[in-house]
Amino acid sequence: MLRSIQFLGSSSGFLFHRLKLHGNQSGLSFISISAAPSSRTPLIITSNTGRCFRQFRASSIRSESNLDGTSPSSSSTSSPTFRSTGSTRKINFCQLCGGSTKHEIPDGEEKERAICTLCGRIAYENPKMVVGCLIEHDNKILLCKRKIQPSYGLWTLPAGYMEIGESATEGAMRETWEEAGAKVQVLSPFAHLDIPLIGQTYIIFLAKMTTQHFSPGPESSECRLFALDDIPFDSLSFSSMLVTLNLYIEDIKVGKPKFHYGIINKRPGTSPSEIHAYTLDHHLRT
Ligand SMILES: [Zn+2]
Repeated sequence: MLRSIQFLGSSSGFLFHRLKLHGNQSGLSFISISAAPSSRTPLIITSNTGRCFRQFRASSIRSESNLDGTSPSSSSTSSPTFRSTGSTRKINFCQLCGGSTKHEIPDGEEKERAICTLCGRIAYENPKMVVGCLIEHDNKILLCKRKIQPSYGLWTLPAGYMEIGESATEGAMRETWEEAGAKVQVLSPFAHLDIPLIGQTYIIFLAKMTTQHFSPGPESSECRLFALDDIPFDSLSFSSMLVTLNLYIEDIKVGKPKFHYGIINKRPGTSPSEIHAYTLDHHLRT
């Protein structure tokens, strides 16, 4: 259903935004077009989506039951550092044979790719998926204070890169276990947020703890439940977390959580650390 919406000017900004990689800001560039400070375009999605969500919830609970929280795999630091040009990353060597690459537009294609000069392999790149949980407990939200860069010392929802071989829900639960020491049950999807310029997509699930226990993992210095009025909005780690928590609070004020889709675009000329300097474009909600 979302594909039927026409997107206009979706790459109108920049956001340096990586949960677990140590980024190199110098290689990133802005696309300088003006973005309205508030350009949300709410759109109500009909009941078809609601039926889909109910089916999804059943599926999520089933996959949650397969979680082995006692032996979580780690995705925390294994990804290589890369230089983003906004739409592609600079790949200098072939992952298959180690040969050097050339950067050309292959026959029949439209985008420049890294092509191995030895074996001819084309290195196709696709966005990374970041998955996480918004955990509700006694009308409070569980946040983790980061013990790693970037955004050291700032608060985040437990989230991280999805691994090959796991579902989005499994990844969200694994990250929650790794960062917050909490075992959770996924309840429903809450937010799908795209950051196209850096090739990231966030999926945040609503979840609840299946035990009362939580404690900081190796990447967190502290985990704490925050009442909605006490959420540390001035010391959040990333714009995606700010967007997610704002949407959640807005929903709670008027009823119950909905499902949101949106594109996060940082305002041109702002620093990556200025997490409030964004627009949420093409915001759709159920
Ligand atoms: Zn090769």
